[in-house]
Amino acid sequence: MNDKETVRPRIVILGGGYGGVSAAREMIRRGVHKQARITLVNDSNFHYLTTLMHYAILKPIDDEKVSIFLPEFLGSSIDFIRATVVRIDAPGNRVVIKIRENEGELEYDYLIVALGWEPDYYNIPGLKEHAFVLHDIQNAHEIHDHIEKAFASYDKDPSQTWIMHILIGGASYTGIEIAAEVADLVPVLARKYSIDPAAVKISMVGIFLPEFDNVLANHAMNYLRQRGIDVRAGTMIERVEAQEVKFQADDAMRPGLVIWAGGIRANDVAGRSGLECDKKGRVVVDELLRCTSHKNIFVIGDCARAVDNSGRPLAQTAQFAAGQGEWLARSMGKILSGQTPKAYAGRNLGMFLSVGRKAGLGVLYVGKHKFRFTGYIARLLKKGAGYRYLWSIGGVRLVVKKLLA
Ligand SMILES: Cc1cc2nc3c(=O)[nH]c(=O)nc-3n(C[C@H](O)[C@H](O)[C@H](O)COP(=O)(O)OP(=O)(O)OC[C@H]3O[C@@H](n4cnc5c(N)ncnc54)[C@H](O)[C@@H]3O)c2cc1C
Repeated sequence: MNDKETVRPRIVILGGGYGGVSAAREMIRRGVHKQARITLVNDSNFHYLTTLMHYAILKPIDDEKVSIFLPEFLGSSIDFIRATVVRIDAPGNRVVIKIRENEGELEYDYLIVALGWEPDYYNIPGLKEHAFVLHDIQNAHEIHDHIEKAFASYDKDPSQTWIMHILIGGASYTGIEIAAEVADLVPVLARKYSIDPAAVKISMVGIFLPEFDNVLANHAMNYLRQRGIDVRAGTMIERVEAQEVKFQADDAMRPGLVIWAGGIRANDVAGRSGLECDKKGRVVVDELLRCTSHKNIFVIGDCARAVDNSGRPLAQTAQFAAGQGEWLARSMGKILSGQTPKAYAGRNLGMFLSVGRKAGLGVLYVGKHKFRFTGYIARLLKKGAGYRYLWSIGGVRLVVKKLLA
């Protein structure tokens, strides 16, 4: 290590998802890596494009299409460490990491926590044990395989009607995206196994599309019902057993597969490390996205409780995670020189979701104007948002690479 090396402050980024990668790329773009030594820690070698993950339920997608190989992507400007973050020792300015079975420590001057989300099971008995969750590409493939196995078993023994019943717990945007992909998969497998698609029942329970207004929520509900999905808005799961799901309203059903998309909470590393969190595990941050107790710890994305100008927590979306990462990278020059940057102000540009392969819905905000979109155009806009993100982190080269993958 030379003299110059010892005086460079150390920035450690925890998490290589939308927030962490956006921060890292923008810092490279702005030359922050020349002023500071930057390290990014992630538990896999890949940044998975979670917003596209549900597409793999219908058709297995090549990993290359929905993931970015971090060591190559970050290049030599940033040190990449594949490790699991165990805890943050905030008073000691250290992070405890685990590489395979070995624990080690990383020291930092500035820490950026971008560890994302985990499912929230709300302590519903049996849910964690019996439900699938769409967290990564592997989960999408498992859901696909499970449904295909159900068709194969039903083909051999059609008396097992329950095996063809799929229950999606959670009716927010992820639940709807998942339900619609499953509905698109049914005719494909029905053809393959010569089974009447009517043998399959897809049910969906939970609070229906709280992210959108009534106009879009009603549109989505009608569309899903036309697709044959049994939408039970407001029905809540009470407990899940191996052969039965019980609802709070005292009725029950026997599905062959339960997929849980009913809620998320922040990754628990920050909470376990003693940083101040809200009841969803999100770290409380100030207007510079710093945690309340340690001003050299910044928290972004799904594990931060950043608020809008009326004090409401911002949605846990890729859009905000990437925006916060970029904002922090842009502010890092000032932070490193001891100045105070302008406060972070999250701007909601809108949100789109796909509803199967042919439809979508969403909303776009332009200034004070709100534009609603439905149908195929909305689906294209969701795709466009994905490519816009790729463009923001990797320019035209990355967009073309993913288009050709
Ligand atoms: C099916 C689905 C569809 C979605 N669609 C949209 C959409 O259309 N638009 C939108 O804006 N948002 C969407 N979202 C939400 C979006 O994916 C999240 O808000 C976004 O991923 C949050 O980014 P992040 O950087 O905070 O976390 P993430 O992108 O989850 O990144 C966290 C990273 O930290 C790593 N990590 C976690 N724990 C550890 C540990 N202990 N040690 C080391 N590394 C760790 C993870 O592997 C991951 O790489 C969707 C989510 C899902 C599940």
